[in-house]
Amino acid sequence: MNDESRAPLFAPVRSLPGVTAERERQLERLGLVRASDLLFFFPRAYRPRPRFTRIADLEFDVEQTTYGRLIDFRTSNFRRGAAATAVFEDDAGDRLRTVWFNMPSWMFRQFQHDRRALITAKPGKDKRGHLQVSHPALVWLDDDDDLPFEGDGTVSTPALEAPPEDDTLFPIYPLTEGLRQHQIHRLMKEVLETLPDLVDDVFPAEYRAAHNLLPIAEALRKIHLPKNEDEAALARRRFIYQEFLLLQLALAIRRQQHEINLKAPIIRPSEDILLRLRRLVPYELTGAQARVIREIADDMARPVPMNRLLQGDVGSGKTIVAAAAILQAVAAGYQAVIMAPTEILARQHYRFLTRLLEHSPIEIVPLLGGQKVKTRQEILEKIECGAASVVVGTQAIICADVHFRKLGLVVIDEQHKFGVRQRARLKTGTGADPHYLVMTATPIPRSMTMTVFGDLDISILDQLPPGRQPIRTRVVTKEKKDEWWTDFRREIEKGRQGYVVVPRVDETDEGLKDVESVCNELSAGPLKGLRLGIIHGRMTPEEKDAVMADFRSREIEVLIATSVIEVGIDVPNATIMSIENANMFGLAQLHQLRGRIGRGKHPGYCGVFLGDETEEAPPGQETLPFSPSAAKTRVASEERLKIFAGSTDGFFLAEKDFEMRGPGDLFGTEQHGISRFHIADILRDRKILAEARADAALLVRSDPGLADDRHRRLREQVLRRYGRALNLGDVG
Ligand code: ADP
Ligand code: MG
Repeated sequence: MNDESRAPLFAPVRSLPGVTAERERQLERLGLVRASDLLFFFPRAYRPRPRFTRIADLEFDVEQTTYGRLIDFRTSNFRRGAAATAVFEDDAGDRLRTVWFNMPSWMFRQFQHDRRALITAKPGKDKRGHLQVSHPALVWLDDDDDLPFEGDGTVSTPALEAPPEDDTLFPIYPLTEGLRQHQIHRLMKEVLETLPDLVDDVFPAEYRAAHNLLPIAEALRKIHLPKNEDEAALARRRFIYQEFLLLQLALAIRRQQHEINLKAPIIRPSEDILLRLRRLVPYELTGAQARVIREIADDMARPVPMNRLLQGDVGSGKTIVAAAAILQAVAAGYQAVIMAPTEILARQHYRFLTRLLEHSPIEIVPLLGGQKVKTRQEILEKIECGAASVVVGTQAIICADVHFRKLGLVVIDEQHKFGVRQRARLKTGTGADPHYLVMTATPIPRSMTMTVFGDLDISILDQLPPGRQPIRTRVVTKEKKDEWWTDFRREIEKGRQGYVVVPRVDETDEGLKDVESVCNELSAGPLKGLRLGIIHGRMTPEEKDAVMADFRSREIEVLIATSVIEVGIDVPNATIMSIENANMFGLAQLHQLRGRIGRGKHPGYCGVFLGDETEEAPPGQETLPFSPSAAKTRVASEERLKIFAGSTDGFFLAEKDFEMRGPGDLFGTEQHGISRFHIADILRDRKILAEARADAALLVRSDPGLADDRHRRLREQVLRRYGRALNLGDVG
């Protein structure tokens, strides 16, 4: 199709009939600037076409839509919200009573005397047998909206205008202030007539046939005006698949480019080193550890940079796996660095490696905050001249100004904040790229590893070292509070140590107690006489370090902490943990926290407290029924905590968390646009995601760089969408 005939697609919305300057601004707020934008502005839901009935003709127990003017509105307050009664009257003078319970007060504002509305509900009977509707859905009408019933009783409802084909479902679009469904419907009717036929299909016909994808014009028409949910699903499938496929193609191409363009040192695996490592640790490696050490060694033996993500639950023994990789690199004459997200963790790694290699000539240097300028200078020189083989530090510091002589391996511990990420730009000194090993204890749901982490190879430590102690978890209710603290105290008096985790350090966070006040309360109450200490994110690294040292040496028996203790801390004598306002945390994070206990030879105990909830109204919501959500949220929180108490399987909990709360920002998905999809949803559509991933791999293998002319449009779209984000450069 030539460009000229496609011009109407790119016409500004202003050129469509009925679009005023004001409408244009409203559309722009929704991101709709050109006619084609409307085509790709998909309904968020579909409803059966409403059945209209006058108030006088309403029937019991059938969903109907009627119309009326608000003539009376009353509320009565109760503790958890309010009950409201509204009476509507239509032109014939018939009246309808509607009621709501647990109504949040922000809803009241919409109830203005004389305001007209369409009322959709299934009427029931009140105590006296009169018609009553509870929690109807309301669509408020503007003054210039026509009435749904004209003089002769025929139905004419601009607010719910029938789109061109009457046997289709009624699409519901996202709206913005001042813009109404029927107005969008009118525009859609306009653009759907001819524009879909002008859109180029990215998929060749054979490809569509093979993968159950509708042609683009048909998909566009059906996604806006499906005859039924199945047809809508098929139309949606096409767009969801396309979105996923583009990302998967981009990832596959990027991988291919790395294979061709990036060079890394070949580090041959040395059995000798592995044997020595085994002699250095007082335990046998688990089968999973041995397997993963092998996977990493195989990667490092290739001339292409390793790009591997090691997932292993808390306590699964990732550190020794990292140590094995580091030793291999050092034995081959390369430098290695291990970076941690926090100073505490970096110091822990430094201590571990120093002890592990205490009788070897390998020099390990720390790069940490608070080092004297002179010390730091000496260390930097050692790294630059190659005297130091292993560097341990925080990410921030190492990325700043370190020159290596011959860097071969980078290990990044506890990384869950970047997915397909900008690699740290390290001055490797070799002219080649280093091998990358990224480790995380956050079990990552599969659909995330296929998208956000989609460019990484994955290793999984799915086996805990033997002799791990069980952790028993309970949800502590108000009534059980005293009992819990008695048990807590008894555990400490047995010589164990404990954590009390408090979600925020901020007093302004209403209802949430901060670390200090919790500490005061406990030291005056149930934990009186025990040695308590506090640690939180606002302390300097040195302060935190000092506290951790005291905790390790049992100077501190109970550590009151924010979630700064989440990552990596290993104090085997700590066996009991109390988590305040546990509902503030996701399951995955709770699991991380709980992983701090049960690390030694004693069983662990964890008590999770359900805090008070605060409720927020959804902004700008116009349509009832709303969800009286405070009570619901509470039930959901309790449900979540019960799931947590019932399982210690990190992968199970991560999948559950993901199902219940979505990806959120747990994995830093906000930081790079790659997981922001227009219509696809990595949770709901994970089957299509897996399909697209497999198809993309095949496609790129059969047509590297998508050079074939049949794939030209796909290639263009991949580049437009991901070229920059994934740094794809020239493809083909
Ligand atoms: P992770 O970083 O995966 O949470 P760590 O590497 O800190 O776990 O290991 C947790 C604890 O388990 C450490 O005290 C470590 O010494 C111990 N450990 C690791 N591997 C084994 C093993 N194969 N057998 C027994 N103990 C092990
Ligand atoms: Mg660790």
